[in-house]
Amino acid sequence: MTDPTPAHDIEAVFHQKGIPFTRQRRQIWEFFAGADRAATITEAADALRSDGVGQATVYRTVQLLSDLGLLARVQDGRGDICYIAPPIGHSHPLICGVCRRVVRFDGEGDLTELELQLAEATGFTVYGHHLEVYGICPSCRAQKEGDHGE
Ligand SMILES: [Zn+2]
Ligand SMILES: [Zn+2]
Repeated sequence: MTDPTPAHDIEAVFHQKGIPFTRQRRQIWEFFAGADRAATITEAADALRSDGVGQATVYRTVQLLSDLGLLARVQDGRGDICYIAPPIGHSHPLICGVCRRVVRFDGEGDLTELELQLAEATGFTVYGHHLEVYGICPSCRAQKEGDHGE
């Protein structure tokens, strides 16, 4: 697994855009960056309430971070919208649809063939892709099998 983007890089993105990187924005970013699974805005708001961060601030900041490309939007198995820290370099997230655990894998060269085929078929110049893979992690699978077995 790759480490999430360090906070000073995030700060640089804010500075570049002329947006203040406030303490609350940092707290919200740190919540997602430190999480090993995808979280909904509501969960972030619940977790940050004791730090005095209001729900409206969490909503606005998640939107902002997402617009700046500092959070990636994914869905869990029930279709709930969740957020994760974005991939570093060419990596993609594999997300457990049950517990939302996120594992990142190296995607170097993964879709080269498909991109070439598409370029040929459509005449597009293809310069990238966005990929999320969904599944059920081993511990959720074990739990499910346990439900049936015992
Ligand atoms: Zn799981
Ligand atoms: Zn890829």
